Amino acid sequence: MGLQIARQVIGGDSRVFPPDSLKDKYWNNNYRLEAIVQLQELVESKMNPETFKKVTCPSLTLYYYKSETEQDPTVKVSAMKTMNEQLSTPADLKEMVAIPGAGGHVLGSHIVAKDLPAVQSAVDKFAREKLKMKPDYGLRPMTLSGYKSSVESNPANELVDLEKFIPGVVLDIKYATEDNFTKAKIYKSARAFARKPVAAALLKAQKEFNKLGYGIKIFDGYRPYSATVKFYEVMNGDSTYVASPYKGSRHNRGCALDMTIFDLKTKTDLTMPTAYDAPQKESWPTEPVSDPVIRKNRETLISVMERNGFKVYRTEWWHFDFVGWQKFAVMNIDFEELN
Ligand SMILES: [Zn+2]
Repeated sequence: MGLQIARQVIGGDSRVFPPDSLKDKYWNNNYRLEAIVQLQELVESKMNPETFKKVTCPSLTLYYYKSETEQDPTVKVSAMKTMNEQLSTPADLKEMVAIPGAGGHVLGSHIVAKDLPAVQSAVDKFAREKLKMKPDYGLRPMTLSGYKSSVESNPANELVDLEKFIPGVVLDIKYATEDNFTKAKIYKSARAFARKPVAAALLKAQKEFNKLGYGIKIFDGYRPYSATVKFYEVMNGDSTYVASPYKGSRHNRGCALDMTIFDLKTKTDLTMPTAYDAPQKESWPTEPVSDPVIRKNRETLISVMERNGFKVYRTEWWHFDFVGWQKFAVMNIDFEELN
């Protein structure tokens, strides 16, 4: 009976979707109506409190919901919530997360889903926090032994201590304190390292800054890969202001510096558009600045650095990449190991 009704509604034996070269690689665009009838039978006989009660494993439900009018058109959100309540899984191991930008029922496909990063970060977070999984980002950073032999074969690979290499440099290593966006002490000691050619380029830049009456203050230099993973996880997978652990950071290569400049006479930092590490649009070097003094300060910092072999980062006025960073490997070596 159900099958006959379905055939009349659809006007044939099968449900046929218009051809789509991309979708057709993964989905059938033609399925027989017997399937719909069987599916309905399955839902009616099995999708009930008795079945849900048997579920005890951790459970994550992601669903498209933006508003009453914009939500999953295929499965009712209210039904998903009812099911979630009826699972026997302990309350702290079942999670429901709305993905307002998903745009449809299928959330995890790059072909149809409209906010895959939100899905990815919700899954990552659940795996880390609830399943206690350690994500594998696929990167195998260099450790101490590999680093040592790389320095033997090419002395340019050496990580040099900036305090020793650059007389007068001031360190203000925020990640060695709790005064940073993670609210945790990431480094055991307040030190800054960079590859030899990077340090040499910074030394040249310092000479130029000194002539203008300014000194260099370093917030961060070489950063072990483990810190990059931590930053990414604190930011819940949003890599606008932190590097993706799938690629690693230029800091991990010993080829990036976070820094500002200060007045040599007064010892005060030059005023910049934002504080260090501020995750906001005003941190972008291309953002307009109305205050002429602040605009000039930023311009001085960036122009001197860029004349000396660095490139300012797209979203951070304080971050400078060494031109040629690609030649250096990502490392996961703590400062203490470098002695
Ligand atoms: Zn940086």
